Amino acid sequence: MWHDGMLKRMAWGGLMAVAGLMAQGATTTAVLEDGPKTLSGERPFIIGLNENFPEPEKEDTMWKQDLPDHIRTVLDVAQPLEHSRGDRLPLYVWPAMNPGPLSDETALRLVEALDKRGIGLVCSLYAEQEERTFAEALPVARAQHKLGLHVNINATQPMYSFFNGDERTAHVDEDGNPFWDDSFGKEHMGCPFTLDFRITPMRERLRPFIERYREEGLPVDFVFADWEIDGPIEWNGAWEASKRCVRCREEMPDLDNFLAFQQRLRSLRSALQRKVFSTPILASFPQALVGNYAVYPNNGFRYWYDYFETIVPGQPEIVEQRARYRHWANEFETTGYTFAMPVVYPWSWTYDWYDFDMPDYRWVYNMLKVASNAAEYRHKDIPLITFVHWHTVNVGRNVGDGPEEGGATAPQLSEWAYQELLWHLLLRGHDTLFLWCMPEENEKEVALLHPVWAAAQEYGEFLDNGVPTTYYVPDQPGLVWSGLRLGNRTLMRTTDFVNREASMDIQFSCR
Ligand SMILES: [Zn+2]
Repeated sequence: MWHDGMLKRMAWGGLMAVAGLMAQGATTTAVLEDGPKTLSGERPFIIGLNENFPEPEKEDTMWKQDLPDHIRTVLDVAQPLEHSRGDRLPLYVWPAMNPGPLSDETALRLVEALDKRGIGLVCSLYAEQEERTFAEALPVARAQHKLGLHVNINATQPMYSFFNGDERTAHVDEDGNPFWDDSFGKEHMGCPFTLDFRITPMRERLRPFIERYREEGLPVDFVFADWEIDGPIEWNGAWEASKRCVRCREEMPDLDNFLAFQQRLRSLRSALQRKVFSTPILASFPQALVGNYAVYPNNGFRYWYDYFETIVPGQPEIVEQRARYRHWANEFETTGYTFAMPVVYPWSWTYDWYDFDMPDYRWVYNMLKVASNAAEYRHKDIPLITFVHWHTVNVGRNVGDGPEEGGATAPQLSEWAYQELLWHLLLRGHDTLFLWCMPEENEKEVALLHPVWAAAQEYGEFLDNGVPTTYYVPDQPGLVWSGLRLGNRTLMRTTDFVNREASMDIQFSCR
């Protein structure tokens, strides 16, 4: 394995494959300037982000005229791949979702056109709106199946809600009165120990879709959900609510221990996801990738807060500068999920956590920490399909504030630093990326993400079988490197976040 001492000094954002450097005691020093170079006659190469873009395809565009704007934006902004994605997972982008009802012919052309760009088209399921769902999703699924591509499903809507307002799901106070935890915004959370009777009706919401795909002879290959504010969650006022609830106190004798409370609630939460979501899908489609937003293996710590989460004083945490990292339960394995879904976003409050002079590194440091945590603790057979986003997610400047209390907007992560970050995710073993964005951000977000993902396909053998060489995140702005080792070669990218114009000076030594 590479270790910190192997790279004495590296600078300049460049990507290279280095051959023949793994021999005992081998040392290579190279000084490289911007542009393609040869290193020690071993044919390494460096590419810039804006090089080698293919010409826009010339094609008949009439068939596109009935497509919704968000789909056309993806087709216009993302260009066909120059390097095949092979058998690797496609890139997922939020605007390549829900094309509306299409004829089989148009669906086929659309799926094909997106596939040329390496992008997988996703269709949403709507429980209790089966005809609408089938009109939209089945032509796309038929096209994907015909072309030998993944059939991709968004199952978010059928997953809501376990806490449906039924009074039987409320906490109970000393006087026997039901009460709700209203600390999560407009959705009120109830008692985590009441949800068994909700499992069957929730599973029923998904059942008609599974049956219909089976009847049609269609596979289901990738199913994700964005299931967040529902079911047992330990954050915000949940711990206090459970302490007031006689049922919770009975169920959890160690309720005063937050970590025990957290693990218990996450176990309940994982079991719901397993029983309602992953198990029924995998029973019919054993090869399917099934997962949920923000559920991923980790080192026991969570370095980010979601938009609905607040800091609760008195809970155990690790403090770094002004960041407060929370403990995180090991919840992944018991969900039964077959892929993991980390979330790597520039949440606005993150900017104020660190005092680095280099503004980009305040974002990059946290985002790379989150991404590296997931990559380091993932199981090799569980793909990482990671949510990414560039625009600042404006959640305020302090955890728990709304944007209106947040004062000045945090400076935007630069495009350059974001694209560098994406390279480092791919070279730390993230299998593919899933862009989330708002409709007004579609064009810009796709324009930043797609070229990086497309350029990385040139190194398919490393993406397929390379082993990440490091998960190290420097705690000061400076040089970040990531690599995928394959045999005696390493595909490596280095980024100097302080001096991005510098030349490259590399020293490798291997033990
Ligand atoms: Zn309770």
